[in-house]
Amino acid sequence: MNKIERVVACLQHQEADRVPVYPILSGVTRNLIGVDYEKWGNDARVCADALVKAADEFDLDCIVSLVDLSVECEAWGANLVYPENEAAHPDYKNPRIKDLEDYASIKKINWRSGRRMQMHYDVCKILVEEKGHELPIIPFVFGPLGTLSMLRNQQDLYLDIYDDKDAVLAAAREINETLKEYCTDLAKLGVPAIMLDTLFSSGSIMSKDMWLEMEGVLVAELADVIRANNAMVMVHNCGERIYFDAQIKTMKPVAISFLYPPDDCSSFEETKQKYGDQVALIGCVTPSSASPDYASDEQWEKECKKGIDAMAKGGGFMLATGCEYPANAPLDRARKMVEIAKTYGRY
Ligand SMILES: [Zn+2]
Repeated sequence: MNKIERVVACLQHQEADRVPVYPILSGVTRNLIGVDYEKWGNDARVCADALVKAADEFDLDCIVSLVDLSVECEAWGANLVYPENEAAHPDYKNPRIKDLEDYASIKKINWRSGRRMQMHYDVCKILVEEKGHELPIIPFVFGPLGTLSMLRNQQDLYLDIYDDKDAVLAAAREINETLKEYCTDLAKLGVPAIMLDTLFSSGSIMSKDMWLEMEGVLVAELADVIRANNAMVMVHNCGERIYFDAQIKTMKPVAISFLYPPDDCSSFEETKQKYGDQVALIGCVTPSSASPDYASDEQWEKECKKGIDAMAKGGGFMLATGCEYPANAPLDRARKMVEIAKTYGRY
């Protein structure tokens, strides 16, 4: 069974030869080719080379093109900082949106004017051309409210919703209209799926009703656009108590990549029982456990096996980290995870 067949079987809730596996190797792949974070996060050829090298060296079953969460916001003028050993992020002291009035300045744009969105598109294009025949290439796109939060900051955005919900929603809608065209062009590369990061759809950040009102309505439209362009919708959300029900209702994803059980389940077993026939489950190994500072080899192994025990039966499960593999951790545990999928994860 090849990688594409294995992932397709997983998405169709069938048992493949074994569980597919994808430790979310993103920023850490820069170490495979010896470049710094800034180069990796801004040069499409370099970034694609690193992701391909990781896929080859670790025998990964797919590539999710997560660069960092500041790819989209750069297009609206976020001031970004590029630390040497961590992901690019906005300059928190100098946000693009400084007060409620600034939301009105966030308009729909031509996504190609966004330097980093263009870079990410180019990464996906290279990956599809060079590896798309071999394994699924899944572009990663930050949702509209998440992107907006990078232009403000999470805390203030949250307060702004209470002060002037309409202003925040209008700006998020402008971003979403841009993301529709962006996702359309990404889908047209011939990718099988696009993964939307819906950070805010979790109990640790906002109420379900508020999420539905502030982002659910938007990503519902975005998901429709993705499907209209012949790609499937996947969701990534590593928040605590995430809203499976609201996200399934709005986006109808084929898979959810997550770290914690949803708000209405107390365990991964229950998650499988309740949602396993509706979406493929991708996860849920704690990324920090990849670092020897936080967990032993035995603990890592145990967590990988626990995920398989809880969710692999009957198919519809991909063993993965619940979020990005730590960007500065050694890679031996990524290798171990793949090995566990190949042995312990055999159907
Ligand atoms: Zn995450």
